[in-house]
Amino acid sequence: MSTASINSCSLTSLFSSQSSLKRATLRPTISARLNSSPSPPSLIRNEPVFAAPAPIINPTWREDMANKSYEEAIEALKKLLSEKDELKPVAAAKVEQITAQLQTTADGKPFDAVERMKDGFIHFKREKYEKNPALYGELAKGQSPKFMVFACSDSRVCPSHVLDFQPGEAFVVRNVANIVPPYDQIKYAGVGAAVEYAVLHLKVQEIVVIGHSACGGIKGLMSFTFEGANSTDFIEDWVKIGLPAKGSVLAEHGGVPFEQQCTYCEKAAVSVSIGNLLSYPFVRDGLVKKTLALKGGYYDFVNGSFELWSVEFGLSPPLSV
Ligand SMILES: [Zn+2]
Repeated sequence: MSTASINSCSLTSLFSSQSSLKRATLRPTISARLNSSPSPPSLIRNEPVFAAPAPIINPTWREDMANKSYEEAIEALKKLLSEKDELKPVAAAKVEQITAQLQTTADGKPFDAVERMKDGFIHFKREKYEKNPALYGELAKGQSPKFMVFACSDSRVCPSHVLDFQPGEAFVVRNVANIVPPYDQIKYAGVGAAVEYAVLHLKVQEIVVIGHSACGGIKGLMSFTFEGANSTDFIEDWVKIGLPAKGSVLAEHGGVPFEQQCTYCEKAAVSVSIGNLLSYPFVRDGLVKKTLALKGGYYDFVNGSFELWSVEFGLSPPLSV
């Protein structure tokens, strides 16, 4: 049986099981309780809707190892720079040389951003745009995506690649650590506008929040102390939206190694984001009217697997209003 048939079969069972959920118990008044909850709401089911099997071979480790030596070299040079001021020009030249090496393509030619994008567009236009006149003709008239997707900005987790979304299928927001902030017209107008547009105007049927393995944003959330002045301009303020996830991971998995805690937090933060989606009135309306559903996903690019969870409403104590 192919992966595709496994997935479609499991997704069918998701829809049938979801219809029996008591979403009618969801009321606007619950949002305040969710937001003030010290731990993330238990919205994600324990069992994945589907989990694509991981491949036996994973080639990414070699790239990681190769990059690490560069990173370490640059870090060492930066340290040297800070310690010995007179070495600054020497170290700076070395950093430049290493950076140039990093930017050299596999065939030995220097990286050319304009050429790369030109080649990419020519390939897209020849192989996709011109071969699908019906699709692009329809898209020229408008869009009617079924999905709204929250995914991380990480260059390895593009949802259109990972889930093979075609143009017009998914309205996507990408940010550091795939976080949905709570409804806030001042602080988070950008995300709010996207959710409002997707739900009220595009009338998407699904909002999916997708976490992923080895997420730098989540690692930051787990690493920052959030005490005293921030050490970053934006990152700490942004990732601390996921603090309830960090709190639950530390409470439940405080004894496991840091990397493992990060993996737990990558999933727990998806749950927090789904909880935050409930603070948007038009999302709540869509759920009550059953025109909208929420899902959590997790893409593990180290093992090449993907899990998707449906969201239960009306079953956990804070939702039983
Ligand atoms: Zn990430």
